[in-house]
Amino acid sequence: MAFGLATAAAVLAAVFGVYPLLDRADSPVVQSVEVAPDAGTGSGADSAGSTGVGGGEVPDGAATLDDDIPAITGLDPDLRAAVEEAAADAAAHDIDFWVTSGWRSLAYQEQLLDEAVQEHGSLEAARRWVSTPELSAHVTGEAVDIGPTEAAYWLIQHGTDYGLCQVYSNEIWHFELLTKPGGTCPPMKDGAAG
Ligand SMILES: [Zn+2]
Repeated sequence: MAFGLATAAAVLAAVFGVYPLLDRADSPVVQSVEVAPDAGTGSGADSAGSTGVGGGEVPDGAATLDDDIPAITGLDPDLRAAVEEAAADAAAHDIDFWVTSGWRSLAYQEQLLDEAVQEHGSLEAARRWVSTPELSAHVTGEAVDIGPTEAAYWLIQHGTDYGLCQVYSNEIWHFELLTKPGGTCPPMKDGAAG
């Protein structure tokens, strides 16, 4: 059953072009990775101006909840614990599960938005995929992006067991802790991204 759903999801993703969007919009996979001098030590307000790993970039676009990098250590502790629990359960079902983006500095979020404007041609178009530093829940450590696509679909199905909710209808990978375990997620937002 799970395989059937995953296959259907993969077909839908292929048809609607979710894979390229994943790469372009919200995942640092396609970006070059520069290890900042303060990598591993920055988090929160102390490194608001950092970019690279120190600003929350995820090397190679995939981190685990144990990784000692600001993208993970800068997460809200309750969110981190919830995602860690989900990751363990996903692993028990043989599903690869990793964090493609977590905490981001103000400067890194601005960089992502600038890159999206370049790619999509306008701020309005870019905002569908990347939020501003002022509004992004990544900057406050209250959002994670999950990969690969199979893991994102698994978490869409099971996230409420951990209080985790998909927030934006156009971002299957972006989750926030918006309910209690077993609770109900708020209606999804259609449009401006996280
Ligand atoms: Zn996100």
